[in-house]
Amino acid sequence: MIKKIDHIAIVVHNIEEALQVYEGALGLELAEVKEVPEQAVRIAFLPIGESEIELVEPLTAESGIARFLEKRGEGLHHICLEVDDIEAALQDLAAQGIRLIDKQPRQGAHGRVAFLHPKSAHGVLIELIEKPR
Ligand code: ZN
Repeated sequence: MIKKIDHIAIVVHNIEEALQVYEGALGLELAEVKEVPEQAVRIAFLPIGESEIELVEPLTAESGIARFLEKRGEGLHHICLEVDDIEAALQDLAAQGIRLIDKQPRQGAHGRVAFLHPKSAHGVLIELIEKPR
C-alpha cells in the first residue's frame, strides 16, 4: 500500500536561513522555492533520492503553519507517504481505528492528499499522497 516517503516537511522561521544548513552545510540541492498563497506559506523543495525535504515558512501570522511555529517552534511538521490508491488507504486505516483529519482526499499541489491525526500515529502528523500517473 505505501510506496515510499514522498517528502518530509520542516517548519522554519526563514527559508534563506534554513538553506544555509540544508543546502550549504548538508549540501542538498535546492530545486525551487515556491509560494503557495492558499496555504499562506513559502516552500523550498530539496530533493533527496526518491524523496524530498520541504522547508515551509509561513507568510502570514494567521496561517496554520504560523500557529504551529508559535506553539511548537521550528522542527518536523509532517511526513508524507505515497500510496497507490488513497481512497483504499483511507478506508483501510479508518477500519483499523486510525483517526483521519481528512476523511476524503483533497487536491494538493502534486496530487490528491489526506492527513492522518498525529494522536493515532504516536505524535507524528502523516500525510498520504496519491500522485497522478
Ligand atoms: Zn506535505
